[in-house]
Amino acid sequence: MREHDAVLKLNIANYRSILMAGKKVVKNKKIKVDTKTTCSSICKKHNFTEDEIQKIEKNLFEWYDKEQRILPWRTIAKNETDQNIRGYAVWVSEVMLQQTQVATVIPYFNKWIQKWPTVQALDDAKVEEVLQTWAGLGYYSRGRRLHEGANIIMEKLNGKIPDSVSELTKLIPGIGAYSASAIASIAFQKPAGVVDGNVIRVLSRMRIIGAHVSQPGVRDHLWELANKIVSKKRPGDFNQSLMELGATICTPQNPNCASCPVNKYCHAYNMTKTTPTAGKLDSFLKRNLAVKTNDQDKQENLPDIENVVSCTFCLPSSVWNENPQVTAFPCKIEKKSARKETVNALVIEKEEKLLMVRRPEKGLLAGLLEFPCTIIPEEATLKEKSSLSESLIKELGLPKSVLSLRNCVGEVIHLFSHIHTTYVVEHLVLNSSLKIKNSEKEITWLTLEEINTAAVSTAMKKVLALVKKSETKPVKQAVSKKRKRSPEKHKQTSIKSFFT
Ligand code: SF4
Repeated sequence: MREHDAVLKLNIANYRSILMAGKKVVKNKKIKVDTKTTCSSICKKHNFTEDEIQKIEKNLFEWYDKEQRILPWRTIAKNETDQNIRGYAVWVSEVMLQQTQVATVIPYFNKWIQKWPTVQALDDAKVEEVLQTWAGLGYYSRGRRLHEGANIIMEKLNGKIPDSVSELTKLIPGIGAYSASAIASIAFQKPAGVVDGNVIRVLSRMRIIGAHVSQPGVRDHLWELANKIVSKKRPGDFNQSLMELGATICTPQNPNCASCPVNKYCHAYNMTKTTPTAGKLDSFLKRNLAVKTNDQDKQENLPDIENVVSCTFCLPSSVWNENPQVTAFPCKIEKKSARKETVNALVIEKEEKLLMVRRPEKGLLAGLLEFPCTIIPEEATLKEKSSLSESLIKELGLPKSVLSLRNCVGEVIHLFSHIHTTYVVEHLVLNSSLKIKNSEKEITWLTLEEINTAAVSTAMKKVLALVKKSETKPVKQAVSKKRKRSPEKHKQTSIKSFFT
């Protein structure tokens, strides 16, 4: 009896803590998540029954076979008889699709496959060429990783892409659990479930998982669900149908539940119908924990107050009360706002070429070419700013005199995923006789045409576009002032001359 009281007390304490978490709801319905919370038992409502699995599979296939988008990697995975080419195409597409929209990826994928149709062809390519082809897609390390992976497959695996999840993750650097499962299921028909952003959303809604994915046990549980429901007959199509559902119907903001092929088995959707106004999550859970499949299941899933109050995967009722919509799932977490950064970018022109430097081999935009840049700390004084500029000019091997030739053409903003960068762009036109010595950086001079095809980031292309647009006159050359020249010789070659 005492033991029972203790359990009840524990559960009530746990329930209170869940409610307290709910009180932390902020305006945009995002909550602060305590990632240290330990996982205890979970409601049966967060699982699928065998009966539901069969019906969900049937409904999803009926819908997917009619509605699926025709995508180039899907066509290869479906029609290509060479399994190594199938695996390669799915691998490339999955890497490109990480943090990038399908519509953006399609032309890049087509170009890539045309250029390097096999792993061997990619292995033969130079990394510089790979980065050039990747330019504009962002997160450049992905392109580099694909190239490294191709090298390993050719050198160590006899040119054969592994077909199992374990080998893919173990043998090829950069292939994680999601990509491995996607490749194994889509290209090689292995019954492996996938968990990506779309699947997390669909599963969290279908199984009312209200805990954040970063909380202990949640991600593992989602993987367990994905592996449990994946079709054994058509695993690749099943995974793609689940992802397609998340991308087209079960969207983050305005899910089209009425047209959803699995709405009958979606607890979140059914909750909105059961509790259309004020949130009654507790009573819903108490009333509906029984999954209406057969009598035995009903009996096994009967409501259990202890189960409800101790479940760490349930959405706090106060959160549901605030927003009794399917969009309450999955739990959102407050994102750190992007860091702000100001960067001084110098577009240096000489004899119809522009000076570029290579970024370090590691970190953001690794190995790409850029105009010489220096970060200006927010709190820097005018004197410090000018000293930073001087250092950059010195590192480039330019004489100090060119500092006075700079012409500010404006600002360009570029958003990286976690950095909000403002480029203050300056344009310098150097006299052809100006000698550059002892540069501490690896500098290279490129024509506009060469820049267009080089591995240059989108941010730098924006900087260049601003210079092109600017109405500024080329700066006078201090160096040239010392010489007497004819008016024609004085005339500077401006960057505009080769832009036009
Ligand atoms: S019913 Fe709505 S919330 Fe549920 S899976 Fe379908 S679209 Fe998503």
